[in-house]
Amino acid sequence: MTPRRPTRPVYVGDSRTGIVQIGGGLPDWAGRATAPAPVSVQTMTAGYTHDVDACVAEIDRLHAAGADIVRVAVPEKKDTAALPEILARTSVPIVADVHFHFQRALEAVEAGVHKIRLNPGNINERAQVVEVIRACKAAGIPIRVGVNEGSIVERRDKQKRLRELGAVFSEQKHGYLLAIMVTKLEEYLDVFYEEDFRDIVISAKSMDAALTIDAYTEISRRFDHPLHLGVTHAGPRETGCIRSVVALGTLLANGVGDTIRISYASDHVGEVEDGLELLYALGLRERKGAELIACPTCGRIQVDLFTLVQEVRRTLAERVELPIKVAVMGCVVNGPGEAEGADVAVFAGDRRGIIYVQGERVANVPEGEILPRLLDECLRFQERVRRGEARMGEKKVSIVPPDPLGELGSGWEKMAAERVRSTPITIRTT
Ligand code: SF4
Repeated sequence: MTPRRPTRPVYVGDSRTGIVQIGGGLPDWAGRATAPAPVSVQTMTAGYTHDVDACVAEIDRLHAAGADIVRVAVPEKKDTAALPEILARTSVPIVADVHFHFQRALEAVEAGVHKIRLNPGNINERAQVVEVIRACKAAGIPIRVGVNEGSIVERRDKQKRLRELGAVFSEQKHGYLLAIMVTKLEEYLDVFYEEDFRDIVISAKSMDAALTIDAYTEISRRFDHPLHLGVTHAGPRETGCIRSVVALGTLLANGVGDTIRISYASDHVGEVEDGLELLYALGLRERKGAELIACPTCGRIQVDLFTLVQEVRRTLAERVELPIKVAVMGCVVNGPGEAEGADVAVFAGDRRGIIYVQGERVANVPEGEILPRLLDECLRFQERVRRGEARMGEKKVSIVPPDPLGELGSGWEKMAAERVRSTPITIRTT
């Protein structure tokens, strides 16, 4: 893991929602020294913003799933008109996503949103951009500039600059696209700098994971603004997950990225869950809730482990708040090694499960009782941690694997052992 790239932080939110810092490590716009904030997770509502009750319910659901910031689209005046009530009824920073109509940005700022997202591809009249910048400056809120290939703010050396950058990126697969993206970004940000506005977050999303990595890497070398990472139009969760995680994971591991949004063409709660899991996996966020370790199963399995794992995952998410490690293993062959370090573990066997708490065996139960007993042990362990009687990640004794032919042993293995015992030994002589 490369250390996080230092950036000039921006702040999103107010005293009611709490303030989310994006980026950090360099002095902020007021000249104060800062440290990098944890990488934040964003998502966006899928419903209509003007349907206030549904929008508030969706924002609450996304916030409850762990979203630090939620974005809403405001394509029409009725959407910006809904913002004051939405802001009053929700408790997470809200970003207004503005396309085509700069008036929507002005209305959203007036309504009190915490951040604006502008697309240089479709709000590119210099005078309009300046008006939005001035409104955001007066309101003290940041702007995310989401660059794409179509963004145009003319500048005199545009063709020359494109040629220069084209030569710089000529070795790269996406050289021409990269040259356009960087040129557009430079052009657009020139307008912001002329207005002495530096409260900026940058994004440069693509549906191509490799271009996303190249674009953000290049931009991270050229600007010190925080970066909002994302792969756009990534598809449904099943495929979008791979495309997003490969790009965002690579960038984050290289120290690039301050806030992320994973985009799926399915329930957006999944975007938040997967975004958080990505950050937990890279050690960029402190885990909330239990961490589940589970074996992939194989031909040795003798319980319905897939169902068990899903039920354990669901109940842990509902009932366990501390980041205790829980292992669900299908058998004793690799289980004990793979469950090393788990606070609570179950090793399944011949329609039974043996449960351990920090290496100490506490139960041997039939398959139907594994889930309730495991949850019970997790809750009891959580209480002991809260009372200061136990510490997470502290294994007291080694897990001794159960005898594979004994209490947990497979029926096949028992039968095979029995066959060996009952077969008379014939000694051949020549
Ligand atoms: S723990 Fe056992 S059942 Fe699970 S994958 Fe490993 S060997 Fe197979």
